[in-house]
Amino acid sequence: MRDDVLPAAVRERALALAAQNQLPAFLYDLPALKTQAGQIRDALAGAGVEFLYAAKANPDAQLLRVLAPLTDGIEVASGGELEHVMDALPHARVAFGGPGKTDRELMTAIQRGVWRLHVESLRELNRVIALAGRRPVEVLLRANLPFGVTGAALNMSGPFGMDEESLVVAARIARDAAAAGSGVRVRGVHVHLASGLDAEQKLTLDERVLDWARTWLRANLPGLKSPEVNLGGGMTVDYAEPGHRFDWAAYAKGLAGLADGSVVLRVEPGRAVSVHSGYYVSDVLDLKYTRGQAYAIARGGTHHLRTPAAKGHSQPLVALPGPQRSGDALNDDSLTVVGQLCTPKDQLATGVPVQDLRIGDLLVFRMAGAYAWNISHHDFLMHPHPSFAYLD
Ligand SMILES: *Cc1c(COP(=O)(O)O)cnc(C)c1O
Repeated sequence: MRDDVLPAAVRERALALAAQNQLPAFLYDLPALKTQAGQIRDALAGAGVEFLYAAKANPDAQLLRVLAPLTDGIEVASGGELEHVMDALPHARVAFGGPGKTDRELMTAIQRGVWRLHVESLRELNRVIALAGRRPVEVLLRANLPFGVTGAALNMSGPFGMDEESLVVAARIARDAAAAGSGVRVRGVHVHLASGLDAEQKLTLDERVLDWARTWLRANLPGLKSPEVNLGGGMTVDYAEPGHRFDWAAYAKGLAGLADGSVVLRVEPGRAVSVHSGYYVSDVLDLKYTRGQAYAIARGGTHHLRTPAAKGHSQPLVALPGPQRSGDALNDDSLTVVGQLCTPKDQLATGVPVQDLRIGDLLVFRMAGAYAWNISHHDFLMHPHPSFAYLD
């Protein structure tokens, strides 16, 4: 556990937050986010691939404002995200996907001028057509294809999207509706089949998807100008190796090799964009041994940072001497860090080697910029919410 892996500005702000009794806190490094998103954008733009950010990874408005000028749009997965993103970024292109959209959500999307609607089922398509009337609505049909990926963290098979037979029917329904004066137009297809893929795995999947999509588009939407294929997100990050990044350069190069100009390519990563720019900063409330195991009790817990509980990993962390440290030093090569919740699941990290750890020392959890605060059960046990701080 070397503390030199923390950027100096993060370390200084973490110590300042401790001195001001602002812990626990989420700390976002906005310049780092800007650099990361800029690198992704440059790599993808060089390959002619559009880049949407999936807001469900982290919809924090300050992050969205950094990302908006560096992306081609924002993908949202609920009516709540749709309104939040459209309020925070009134000029952004918004793509709206996700299962179980209500009429009210669809109507809001249509009235507020959603850029793309990712339609998940035939019933949803019929409802969009009924709600839209003559208003223009540009639709991608979400495809559920039988392309499982070995080694993926999550295969997204199940209730998402439509099988091949339904997609053919959907194309016909949309064509008939357009002929009858509907404003709804199918612009292409959308997939999000797996997550936790490295560049090579993702390219292997994308190649299969593209082969299928080109054939399908020619057969079912003949004559469509610039058909679109949204390849989804799911680019991997490595919680065991916080310094490791998804290889965007190799991925973009591979996509450029797959492109033939016949379709517009688009991706919508979330986690790999924002995860590295967030930190959850806590401090040590108690230290103890029980049944031979060393524990640090951190202020806060998985009700703020549910990521390690949800994914079953140890959240990478750096310990820093706190401004008000006290008590005896703990030295151990396999510390377990838990939070304040009365459940054994409230575990943030295990197997952590520590030297000279004391009460009041800081625990700075890395890779807390995605699927962290926004997936956590904030009010369980009624502890206070964390504070939020931004480097800019
Ligand atoms: C969650 C999701 C994404 C983003 O996935 P990441 O693993 O965060 O990159 C993209 N598209 C859809 C449809 C999703 O559900």
